[in-house]
Amino acid sequence: MPIRLLMPELVNQIAAGEVVERPASVVKELVENALDAGAARVSIELEGGGADLIRVSDDGGGIAPDELLLAVTAHATSKIASFDDLKAVASYGFRGEALASIGSVAQLRITSRRANDPHAHAIEVDGGFVNGPRPAAGAPGTVVEVQTLFRNVPARRKFLRSQAAETGRVHDAVDAIALAAPGIGFTLSSDGRTIMDLPPQDERTRCVQVLGAGLAPELLDLALELESPELHGPIRIGGVVGTPAAAKASARNQWLLINGRSIEDRSLQHAVREAFRGLMDPSVHPVYALFVELDPRAVDMNVHPAKTEVRLRFPSLVHRAIRRAVAQALERRGLVVTQRLPAMEHPEPTLPLPLGMTQRTIVHADGGIPWTQPTGDAVTELSREPAARSSAHDAAPMRAVERSAPVRFMQIDHAWLVVEEGDGVTVIDQHALHERVMFEDLKARIERAPLERQRLLMPELVDCGTGAIERIEALAPILDRLGLECTPSGARMIAVHSMPSFLVERGVGAQEFLLSIAAGDLRADDPRAAEAALSEVLDLMACKAAVKAGDRLTATEIAALLARRDTIDRPDRCPHGRPTAFRLTTAELERRFGRS
Ligand code: ADP
Ligand code: MG
Repeated sequence: MPIRLLMPELVNQIAAGEVVERPASVVKELVENALDAGAARVSIELEGGGADLIRVSDDGGGIAPDELLLAVTAHATSKIASFDDLKAVASYGFRGEALASIGSVAQLRITSRRANDPHAHAIEVDGGFVNGPRPAAGAPGTVVEVQTLFRNVPARRKFLRSQAAETGRVHDAVDAIALAAPGIGFTLSSDGRTIMDLPPQDERTRCVQVLGAGLAPELLDLALELESPELHGPIRIGGVVGTPAAAKASARNQWLLINGRSIEDRSLQHAVREAFRGLMDPSVHPVYALFVELDPRAVDMNVHPAKTEVRLRFPSLVHRAIRRAVAQALERRGLVVTQRLPAMEHPEPTLPLPLGMTQRTIVHADGGIPWTQPTGDAVTELSREPAARSSAHDAAPMRAVERSAPVRFMQIDHAWLVVEEGDGVTVIDQHALHERVMFEDLKARIERAPLERQRLLMPELVDCGTGAIERIEALAPILDRLGLECTPSGARMIAVHSMPSFLVERGVGAQEFLLSIAAGDLRADDPRAAEAALSEVLDLMACKAAVKAGDRLTATEIAALLARRDTIDRPDRCPHGRPTAFRLTTAELERRFGRS
């Protein structure tokens, strides 16, 4: 074929492929236009989840009648005029292609009236053919109607999900914009029923309403300013973040806005997670609406046609600002990892002991463990009650190293170990310590060879959801080293062919293990991320296989576990960073009883 210029209509359809993916993307473009036009209230109406009709009405400045035709023409915009403008865009729009794109894949009608116009004008675009502008009835402001989306692109129309799913995505899109513009009122209705009604409000109220009013007491304000010589003006972090108590099983309630635009950025999401390190289980997701404001020249918004990704000139600065802002907010709420297991030589001078702490069940001869002096006899394996097992373990055997002096200890509530040693007692979280020990074991093993695996007779199918498939696929080489062999099977299923033997022995199923991996935000796209992912999965394995609070341990098992403390690097921290133990020294006891 000879080279030729594409027809403008075809150009628009190609552009539409990038900007107009589904009703939610249309709504996003139209609502952004309304905000750019200075609207104070925006109303969005959907029919058939937006596939049949999307109507966005605003009370903004309107469009001059003689500019209506330009508005639906590609690369026509009122928002930037030069390359310099592009470097510091203050409006949502600037590409001038949304309306033209939408007009190429749906019936588009715009009715608009400026404040001083005697009446409105309307223009219609259908399959690229333009009708109007002609006089019409209408209040000041603009109404944009989009009918039968993708009518002329059946492949795309078929690709749309259920009405409820599309409506949900529109809801999310409006939430994202509403967070950036708390002073603007938004309503959203679906087939005549109002499903969102946000009056103009202050920023915190808007955040609370979007994240869930029930969470209000758990939402902490973020406020940080970071100056940096590289930037004109500071980086400001605002918005709210939920305490660990507000965390959710899914990552849906995580909003990150840079200069008022909602964006997706794994590395910045990770910055939030890092601030929670040691305070929260890695399998749940913090909720947040986090606003980053910085010099617009340091942010390239023109990376993605729908502007959902940005390129930052100083990503690590922003990363640091976010991490600090979240950590500070948590700290102000008293959420900080403070308890440490001091080295024997440096007993912690003050140790926070919760007031009103009562002695809980101390189990006695009915199978529990009284103060005990094991004879230091055996090389013992730590098994998990009630299913004691004797098989040769793949990882995790707790070999008891003979200690020089036997220790006295007791198990409280099948969860805590109290050990008399040195100058005082150490209180240990049995699960956290065992997890730490297993983690170190596994890490040492994996450095030598892949973990031993157990083939499943039939591959086990696990439904991971469409979102997780790609990520798990990318992690496959890492998982394989750990003994987990899996392949995608269909759009949302993963077939598991083998499992790490020691997990099987500890009764951890493929489904449970894979779903926890899927729930995380692990990636392997660069060596550093891959190493972190390996570590996180090892950590998960250790956590799943470790004894739990509530597991009864025999005296020999406890002795074996305690003995292992000497052989690991940082026995005072479980791999998540939670403390595994704290110490109560005789000096501290004396101080508390006023005897010092
Ligand atoms: P962009 O927003 O990138 O400029 P669009 O295709 O979305 O491109 O819109 C084209 C132009 O139409 C805008 O620059 C603006 O001047 C005008 N316009 C679109 N929607 C509205 C609206 N709701 N109110 C006033 N003007 C609008
Ligand atoms: Mg626009």
